[in-house]
Amino acid sequence: MSDPFDVRPDARPTDAQLAAIDAAVDAGRDARTELLRELVRFASTLGREHAVQARVADAFAAAGLAVETIPLDYADLATRPGFSPVDWPEDGREVVVGRHVVNEAAGRSLLLNAHVDVVPTGPEHLWRHPPFGAVVEDGRMYGRGAGDMKAGLAAMLHAVTALHDAGLEPASTVVLQSVVEEECTGNGALAAVLAGDVCDAAIIPEPFDRTILTAQLGVLWARVTVEGRPTHVLEATAGVDAIRLAGEIAESFRDLEARMNAPEERPAAYADAPHPINVNVGRIEGGEWTSSVPASCTFDVRFGFFPGTSVADMKARVEAHLARFVEAHPVLKDAPPRLTYVGFQAEPYEPPADHPAWRGLAEVHAAFAGAPPATLASTATTDARILGLVGGTPTTCYGPTAGSIHGVDEWVDLDSVHEVTRTLAHFLARWTGVRPRGGA
Ligand SMILES: [Zn+2]
Repeated sequence: MSDPFDVRPDARPTDAQLAAIDAAVDAGRDARTELLRELVRFASTLGREHAVQARVADAFAAAGLAVETIPLDYADLATRPGFSPVDWPEDGREVVVGRHVVNEAAGRSLLLNAHVDVVPTGPEHLWRHPPFGAVVEDGRMYGRGAGDMKAGLAAMLHAVTALHDAGLEPASTVVLQSVVEEECTGNGALAAVLAGDVCDAAIIPEPFDRTILTAQLGVLWARVTVEGRPTHVLEATAGVDAIRLAGEIAESFRDLEARMNAPEERPAAYADAPHPINVNVGRIEGGEWTSSVPASCTFDVRFGFFPGTSVADMKARVEAHLARFVEAHPVLKDAPPRLTYVGFQAEPYEPPADHPAWRGLAEVHAAFAGAPPATLASTATTDARILGLVGGTPTTCYGPTAGSIHGVDEWVDLDSVHEVTRTLAHFLARWTGVRPRGGA
């Protein structure tokens, strides 16, 4: 097989340069943990990412990158492929891009992308450590976003810093993106790719246990609103109980989920996955008064779907399922629910197979880990689809080991953050080539 690294001979890192990069990665470990701690302490849930993005912009600048902060312009984004509709305030959202631009590249360009938005903590009393405390215990850092994915952000930044500290810089263009809304729309990544940075490859250090992503599902978020008829509980049978009806509809989606997981529906990449398609009712709101039959109920539901199915196909399937259920239902047929879409309209994505970047990454990983990395067909979505399908940059994920992401007591393994930083730094040097810092 051909050499995955296509770099002009004078820019290929020497063994001594790689050793210096390695030493810089080791020397930077404490500073990296400190940066991660700082990032985790920003409670950057949806709409509260401004402060952490300002900190990231400073860190990018300190690493010698030219920094651009780009506000999310929803009016423009809404006209672009890849956009997902929102129903939340639109102000104060921005992405941060850090660039090291080389006009006469000696190798290939690289894009590194991470998101700073985190999902809600859930009940804080269930956590062993404060969710934004960044407590370190037994080699793990605990906190919402520690794994997903502030550790990856710290690792990718320190891969660049390691070259810098070794007196070098990439001999090709490197772009770092820090985005928002990864957990609900991908609109942050969309705003970032619209800035026009197209690279030869992209890596997102999502916390996938140092596997290389080979496929990810599509994800569709839908909202179902049921309107009943309010009455006093004394005459409850005369009312139409919206909460109960919503429950019946939600339950009916289980049938759809079971059909979608059937062996004959699965592409090869997901043949052995235990339960790849998950239909999740993640939020519900309904009723007005304890002694009144509930007149309305709304719930939000997340559908995963396989590569080979588009967002449009999946919408049609959900709509057909709902129409059939309503038609056969004694009450709903006269009071049909309303179906709308807010949040994810994420197409499935499969990075190009056998891309030189993934081969090169696997080679570097294997040199340190002693064995080639496993591959991952993910049952979730990532911003890889936006970078790949909209941005035109082939993208995979490779990042640290974490646990309980989206759950309580989320953690990241600090040794794995260190190893990912080392692998990314070596990969970066060999992919882009290197030159003395400040060179022409
Ligand atoms: Zn993530």
